[in-house]
Amino acid sequence: MIEIQNYINGELRPPHSKEYLDVFNPSKGEVYAKAPSSDLKDAESAVESARLAFKKWSSSSSEYRSEIMLRIADLIDQKHEELAQAESKDNGKPIWLARMVDIPRASANFRFFAKAITQFSSHAYEMPGAINYTIRQPLGVVSCISPWNLPLYLFSWKIAPALAAGNTVVGKPSEVTPMTAYLLSRICIEAGLPPGVLNIVHGRGDKLGEVLNAHKRIKAISFTGSTRVGGEIAKTAAPLFKKLSLEMGGKNPNIIFADCDYEKMIKNTIRSSFGNQGQICLCGSRILVERSIYEQFKSDFVKIAQNLTPGPAHLETSKMGAIVSKEHYEKILSYIEIAKEEGGKILCGGYAVHPEGFESGYYIAPTIVEGLDQNCRSNQEEVFGPFVTIQAFDTEEEAIEMANATQYGLSATIWTQNLSRAHLMAKKVEAGIVWINTWLLRDLRTPFGGIKQSGVGREGGFDALEFFTEPKNVCIEF
Ligand code: NAD
Repeated sequence: MIEIQNYINGELRPPHSKEYLDVFNPSKGEVYAKAPSSDLKDAESAVESARLAFKKWSSSSSEYRSEIMLRIADLIDQKHEELAQAESKDNGKPIWLARMVDIPRASANFRFFAKAITQFSSHAYEMPGAINYTIRQPLGVVSCISPWNLPLYLFSWKIAPALAAGNTVVGKPSEVTPMTAYLLSRICIEAGLPPGVLNIVHGRGDKLGEVLNAHKRIKAISFTGSTRVGGEIAKTAAPLFKKLSLEMGGKNPNIIFADCDYEKMIKNTIRSSFGNQGQICLCGSRILVERSIYEQFKSDFVKIAQNLTPGPAHLETSKMGAIVSKEHYEKILSYIEIAKEEGGKILCGGYAVHPEGFESGYYIAPTIVEGLDQNCRSNQEEVFGPFVTIQAFDTEEEAIEMANATQYGLSATIWTQNLSRAHLMAKKVEAGIVWINTWLLRDLRTPFGGIKQSGVGREGGFDALEFFTEPKNVCIEF
């Protein structure tokens, strides 16, 4: 049984209490590792070591920080297969997906911000008889809290800009998928990251997370996770005037017009519905289709989805993997029941799957539901699994009304060949990220985040470096 350790002050340490949490392999539904159940004392040690490391790290040159981060990126690449295997086992995602997306993106995050910081500059404002210049300084100790769906990918997406900007970090990965964050600790030691600059503490959100939210020495919190938890963090941290970046849930619409490139659209709609078992915040879970192609779309979409039988994560042949945990698996199954009670017609899936030899794993067939209106729970609440609804619309106005009819506003995907319509729809749809004729195509320089109850603030590019720094204006009169 692997025993994961905390990474504090440059060392791997057991939790102070010696208490551990079970870590499951969702493909088998079995415990395969233990992770620290850290508490206040572990958090205090991590924050104190980050505080002590801040002076030297924040005053080091950006080239120095960049060099160490590039070494971390190179080590992630060198250990690509080991990390991909670990991510797939821990999360239940197919091994090919971890190899193709999660691990390359983790090294890309470190590499991108290692380079970005060397290009980050400040502004000067000239006025008659005087000049102002604005410097940007790191905040101090910051915390980075990440979810289980893209474990190393999203953890590194926060840590990399925080470190590049000169902050020291207390990171808390999801307790559901702690393994690759632990492997990252070992990589940081190997890369020569100075002790205390990054601390990774494992534990439950309601115990360890709450301590971090309330800790007076933590100046900012960068969080990705559910809207519910984002609200709890804000409740504690806002009165302490911490800077907050909150990336939260979504219920994203895919708006499909009859004039789209049909082949490309259907291929991408399958990906955006069931990729990573539907557990990507950017997945489109409400599929809105122009009525004239609705029946054709329904028939093709269902036919392809029926072939996506989920299987064990380590098998190259598994087109979909396992749901991340028993708790989440039960939540998704409960939403399938809700959809039925609401009068939805299950066109595909709607049940758990039990692959031979892996009967205790958490598998759900891709599920497509029709016949539900906009206001029902199935179309309003985030399910975050292989569960989508399809609905027909007649006009652009109706499509926009349907797309915007939730509390969420993370992303939207629009499929049309009509240029004017594409721009108009992009402007009207309430989302922080809009894709036209594509999905999940990412340029790391662009602002990433949601509106409404999907987010506060933006990650990515210089937006992230701005979040992790405070501007100071200096005015000189001649
Ligand atoms: P979650 O909110 O349950 O947990 C996220 C992290 O917060 C975990 O590390 C957890 O331990 C921690 N946490 C829990 N309670 C806490 C508290 N009170 N204080 C501090 N930390 C606490 O989310 P999850 O189930 O891990 O992930 C799924 C959710 O994440 C979905 O809602 C999904 O949409 C969202 N998500 C959003 C984005 C985005 O970029 N907007 C990306 C990925 C996932």
